[in-house]
Amino acid sequence: MQILSYLVYLVASILFIFGIKKLGSPKTARQGNFLSALGMFLAVVITLFDQRVLTFEYIIIGVIIGSAIGAFMALKVPMTGMPQMVGLLNGFGGGASALVAFAEYYHILNVNKPLDAATSITLVLSVLIGAVTFTGSFIAFGKLQGFVTGKVVKYPLQNPINVLLLLAVIVAGVFVVMEPSSEDLLIGILIVSLILGVLLVLPIGGADMPVAISLLNSYSGLAASMTGFVLQNNMLIIAGALVGASGIILTLIMCRVMNRSLMNVVLGGWADAGSGGAGSGDGPQGDAKSVDAEELAMILDSAQNVVIVPGYGMAVTQAQHAVRDLTNILEKKNINVRFAIHPVAGRMPGHMNVLLAEAQVSYDKLFALEDINDDFPNVDVALIVGANDVVNPAARHDQNSPIYGMPILNVDYAKTVVVNKRSLNVGYAGIQNELFFYPNTLMFFGSAKEAINKLVNELKEL
Ligand code: NDP
Repeated sequence: MQILSYLVYLVASILFIFGIKKLGSPKTARQGNFLSALGMFLAVVITLFDQRVLTFEYIIIGVIIGSAIGAFMALKVPMTGMPQMVGLLNGFGGGASALVAFAEYYHILNVNKPLDAATSITLVLSVLIGAVTFTGSFIAFGKLQGFVTGKVVKYPLQNPINVLLLLAVIVAGVFVVMEPSSEDLLIGILIVSLILGVLLVLPIGGADMPVAISLLNSYSGLAASMTGFVLQNNMLIIAGALVGASGIILTLIMCRVMNRSLMNVVLGGWADAGSGGAGSGDGPQGDAKSVDAEELAMILDSAQNVVIVPGYGMAVTQAQHAVRDLTNILEKKNINVRFAIHPVAGRMPGHMNVLLAEAQVSYDKLFALEDINDDFPNVDVALIVGANDVVNPAARHDQNSPIYGMPILNVDYAKTVVVNKRSLNVGYAGIQNELFFYPNTLMFFGSAKEAINKLVNELKEL
């Protein structure tokens, strides 16, 4: 039986690795998701045959309740709420790892089994990382959902206090390793780690929150991996390590495209990112020229080369289908239409790709920032649909801007820039966008879905 379970674990691990690989492209993502889910299914089924399972009643009750909540969330949570949902799930993952490690600790104490150094070290790490992930993820969820302030929270001696708490956990951990029966110390580690989770995530704010979620995702994987060592379960070690590694890779990619260092994000650097004042809304003022659907239809009708830049506003109104209709009608008029996708457009990596794929926009029309940016001078109309920060030219030249250095889509180099949004309001980063006041920019005010549908109707009449 043990050999069979090792074999199934091996197959499941291979399925996870291929699944993650296939998740890297929208074309193969569904297949990747299926392979990973199949791997998880096999791993769970073979684990249920483990001799240590004493009763199936609780497992069945847990499966029913968990599946019902999971299905409800998957159906109900809007795409724009995905980061906080992922945050919440990370939290449960971390909490579960800490609980399982604790359960195994009590089991070992009860049966008077000796606790070797390697197991106690991973036990302490599992409790520490799992508990930090648990409370940290709930704070991250609260921030993104608006229950907790989304701003950077700073207080005196913030970093020294965090370092002190971490040191206390490490010292207590060393004692637990030396004297494994120190149950009270382990409970102390749990409590301090829960507090640390809150304190570590509170300072993170503004546009850094999705990065923090990705980092917590990585932590939840590490916690699971550590618990795998405690339980001596290879599957958990491998699955946890994969989540930990992919989470940290994603975190670093997000930091790179926002031109931030991981340390700066973790220490709540958004507040210091510039005196331009994140959230202040200060910035360029002037007259923005607006255009209505009828005029815009005429401008587009005479264009040859159009690039559409989708952003959060498209996601929030689910305007991707209207955008696809617009693409179809422009193409019928022999106008070349491409999409420029910024890596952090929307609220999670790949957000725009997923929405456009759902609307059946073909992949070969989607261009990454580095593949299209040099071509903007040849573009007749750059049509921005609900994007803001990712096209803010201040990122190129204003050293005081919080987004200075972040690569942006150079839409302002196009002959005409049209920005569809509801107002001149700021985006996620909380900073004004000088693009709206550029001489070649026209504002096409309105909620994305409605506005683009109106535009499509006008184009049909031409
Ligand atoms: P932004 O958040 O900068 O701007 C979105 C704009 O959409 C707003 O200015 C808003 O303007 C407009 N909008 C809102 N509702 C509607 C609507 N109904 N119709 C039309 N427009 C609407 O979005 P971007 O996609 O440009 O940038 C993403 C931001 O998220 C960046 O700051 C990025 O750093 C951050 N981020 C993204 C991550 C990712 O992985 N994608 C990760 C971490 C951070 P108005 O209110 O006037 O309508």
